[in-house]
Amino acid sequence: MKVLIEDIRNKFSQKGLKITPQRVVILEAIYKLNNHPTADNIIENIRESHPNIATGTVYKVLETLVENGLIRKVKTDKDIMRYDGIIEIHHHLYCSKCDLIEDYIDEDLDNLLKNHFKDKNIKGFKIEDIVLQIRGAFDKC
Ligand SMILES: [Zn+2]
Repeated sequence: MKVLIEDIRNKFSQKGLKITPQRVVILEAIYKLNNHPTADNIIENIRESHPNIATGTVYKVLETLVENGLIRKVKTDKDIMRYDGIIEIHHHLYCSKCDLIEDYIDEDLDNLLKNHFKDKNIKGFKIEDIVLQIRGAFDKC
């Protein structure tokens, strides 16, 4: 995935966030890794170029990015938090053998779910979005 620093800087500006080297390098790492990395994956990725970045700083930046809607959190069965640079609604195929999370985009499914819950009308609950984690195993695993 080609990542332009200029695009990243623009994203921060649009959200009214200060552009700091730490924020830029962390968001860049998430886009580059492009596979729902854990905080550890991110730290490992940026250590070479930023050997002095503190683990606490990384977690703080990740929180800020989530709060501002620049990334999403993805929780797995193993309870390890992972991060997603794609903020548009999409589902995940989660491989229970290799731990890979692949994005799954399916508009028909989105419409189906939306209509289903429109009819169901769960009392006292307003649905914001529906994200499925579809568990299974890839053939190659
Ligand atoms: Zn995703």
